[in-house]
Amino acid sequence: MRRVTREVAIGAVFSALSGWLAWSLLLGVGAAPALRSTAAHAPTEASTFPALAESAAKVASYEIEAKLDTEKHRISAQQTIRFVNRSRRALNELWFHLYLNAFKNDKTLFLRSPFGAGRSGDKAREYGYVDVKKLAVIGGDGDDLWAKRDRHSPDDPDDETNLRVPLSSPLEPGASLDLQLEFEAQLPEIIERTGFVGSFHFMGQWFPKLARLEPNGDFAHFAFHPQSEFYADFGDYDVTLDVPSGFRVGATGSLVRETGGKGRTRLTYRAENVHDFAWTAWDRFETRSETIAGTKVSVLFPPRQHRNADAELASIRFALPHFNALYGAYPYPNLTVVHPPEAAANAGGMEYPSLITTGGPWYSTLGGGHFIDIVTVHELGHQWFYGLLASNEHDAPFLDEGINSYAEAQALEAQYGPSSVFGAFGLSVSSSALNRLISAARGADEKIAQGAADFATFRSLGAIVYSRTAIVLATLARVYGSERVNHALGVYTRKFRFQHPTTADFLGVMQSELDSRAVSALTLALSERATVDYLVREISNAPISAAAGVFDGPKGREQKKPEAPHQAAQYSSRVVVYRHGTLQLPVEIELGFEDGTKQMRHWDGSGYTFNVDNVGSSPLVSVSVDPEQRILVDDDRSNNWLDNRGSGTPHLRERALYATQLILGAFGP
Ligand SMILES: [Zn+2]
Repeated sequence: MRRVTREVAIGAVFSALSGWLAWSLLLGVGAAPALRSTAAHAPTEASTFPALAESAAKVASYEIEAKLDTEKHRISAQQTIRFVNRSRRALNELWFHLYLNAFKNDKTLFLRSPFGAGRSGDKAREYGYVDVKKLAVIGGDGDDLWAKRDRHSPDDPDDETNLRVPLSSPLEPGASLDLQLEFEAQLPEIIERTGFVGSFHFMGQWFPKLARLEPNGDFAHFAFHPQSEFYADFGDYDVTLDVPSGFRVGATGSLVRETGGKGRTRLTYRAENVHDFAWTAWDRFETRSETIAGTKVSVLFPPRQHRNADAELASIRFALPHFNALYGAYPYPNLTVVHPPEAAANAGGMEYPSLITTGGPWYSTLGGGHFIDIVTVHELGHQWFYGLLASNEHDAPFLDEGINSYAEAQALEAQYGPSSVFGAFGLSVSSSALNRLISAARGADEKIAQGAADFATFRSLGAIVYSRTAIVLATLARVYGSERVNHALGVYTRKFRFQHPTTADFLGVMQSELDSRAVSALTLALSERATVDYLVREISNAPISAAAGVFDGPKGREQKKPEAPHQAAQYSSRVVVYRHGTLQLPVEIELGFEDGTKQMRHWDGSGYTFNVDNVGSSPLVSVSVDPEQRILVDDDRSNNWLDNRGSGTPHLRERALYATQLILGAFGP
C-alpha cells in the first residue's frame, strides 16, 4: 500500500511543501537543491537474464459464487478450494485466514491496537465479520470440518482471524484436496481497505482463505495485525459475482461471462497464477479503458473525476512499459485501476493481483504535485513486488514495500526528473528527496529487515520500510551505478517470478550481481541499523617557506631568516573527513582553492577518518563531501560543507534543506 494517500495525506504534503517554500524564501536561498535524478535504464543485455516462468506452482485455487446485498452490505457465497500439498510433509491440519473478522469488534488484534500509531487512525463505526457455515471435503465423509476448528487465533481469545482446522486424515505430499465452503461476509464500513460507504463497496480479504503452505509443511499463518499485509499461495480463481443491475464491477482477472435478469447481473471473472482476489461494486462508477503495452487497462472512478482518471492512465502509459523492461513483462491480460470516492479514501492506495486502488480528491492533479502519479506508479509497481514476487509481507515487508518504493521513485524520476513529487513556484522535489526527508535520522531507530508487527509504530514502519529501503537502494545505484543495481533487481524479479522470495533470496541475487562492498553495505543497512554521516570540521593551511634557522653545512654555519608569510610560494593544506556510523560507502570530496581551482579526491570510506592533503600554490578554502549527493543515506548533509570564506551558498542551502526536513518530518509516516 501507499503511505502517501493515507499517512501523508495530500493536504499534509501541500502544507509541508508550503513550509518548504516559506523556509526557502526566509533563508533567501531559493529552492532547496533537488537531488540528482537517477534515470532508469532499460536493461541492455536481456540475454543475461533468467528466462521468465510462465506460471506458478499452484497450491490453492478458488471457485467462488458470491451474491452481494448492497442494502445490507453482505455477501452470501459458496466456495470451493482445490488445495495441493506441495510441501515435503504430510499435513494434519489447515490454517484459514478470516481477515474480515479483524473488524468484528473492538477487541480484535487489529482494532484494539493503538490506532494513533496505526494506519488510518480510525475506529470502526459499522463492524464486519465472516461466518463460515460449513466446510467439507468434496468426496469425503461429509463431516463438517469447520465444527472442529479452533475457536480463536493462537494465544488470543479475542481474535478470530487465524484459525486452525484439523483434517480427518493426513494429506500426503503431492496429494490434493477439494474443499467446499459456504460463508456469509458482513462488510464493515470502510476502516482499512475493505468495506462500504453508501453504495460504494470494496471487497478485499473478504473470503475464507488458506494461509500459505511453506515447503517444509508449516503454514505461514498469522492473525491480522494493523501493521501487516499479506502472504498467500498462487492458484487460479474463478469468481462469479452477482450484483444488482446498474452496479459497475471491477475485479481481479478478466471478465469471461456476463448474464442478467430479474434486476441482477452475474459476472464471472477468471484469474490465473494469482494469490488473491479483490473486487469493487458501485452504481456511480465511471470508466475509461485503454490498451497499454498489450494490457487492457480499465479505470473506474467517481463522477467528475475525469482529470484523475486521465492522470492515472497517463502514469500507466509510462510506468507499465518501464516496469515491463526492468522487471519482466506484466503477465496478465487486464489491469483494473479503482479510484475510490473521497468518502472511501481508506480503500485507496492498495494493491491486489491485476487490480490496484488509487485515491485523492478531485483537485489532486492541480498545483504542481504528482500525487496521482505517485500512488498509481507505486501500486502498479506492486504488481511485481507483491504480485509476481509474493514475499511474506508479515515477516519482511521491505521486500515488497521497500523495493517497490525504490522502483516507484526510479520510474517517477525517469519520467519527471527532479520534480517527480512536486514542481512549481521554482521548487522541485524529487521522490528520492522526499524519501530522504521522511527517513532522515530514523536509520538507527529500527532495522529495515524485520517483521511488520515488530516495528514500534506504523509511522516508524513507513519511514524505515518504505523510505529508508528506497534511499539505501538509491544510494547504491548512485555510488555503484544504477545500471548495475537495476540489472541485479531485474535478475531477482525474473528468477523469483511467481515465487515467494525471502530476504536471503534477495541478498543471494545481490551477492551474485553486485560488488561485494555494495552487498556488505546493503546487508548492514538492512539488518544492523547501519547509518552513515560524513562530515568535516576544519580546514588548515600552512605556508611552506624556504627553510629558516641555523644550518651547518660543508661550507660552515649559515643562518637563514624566515620569510614573511605572504611571500610563501606554496601551502600545505589539510582537511580531515570523518565518517560516523558503520556504513562504509565510497565518497567523492571536492576541494576548492582560493584561486578558484577545484580538485576531486576519492575516499573508499574505510576507516573513520580520511586526511585530504594538498600542497599547492593556493590555500584550500572550501571542501564539499559528496558534492553530487550520491549518498542519500548520509544522516546529516549540513555538515558536509566547509568554507573558510564564510558560509557559502551550498552550506546555506543545506541548512535550508535541513530545516525543511524538520518541517516535513512532522508529516512523515
Ligand atoms: Zn505499497
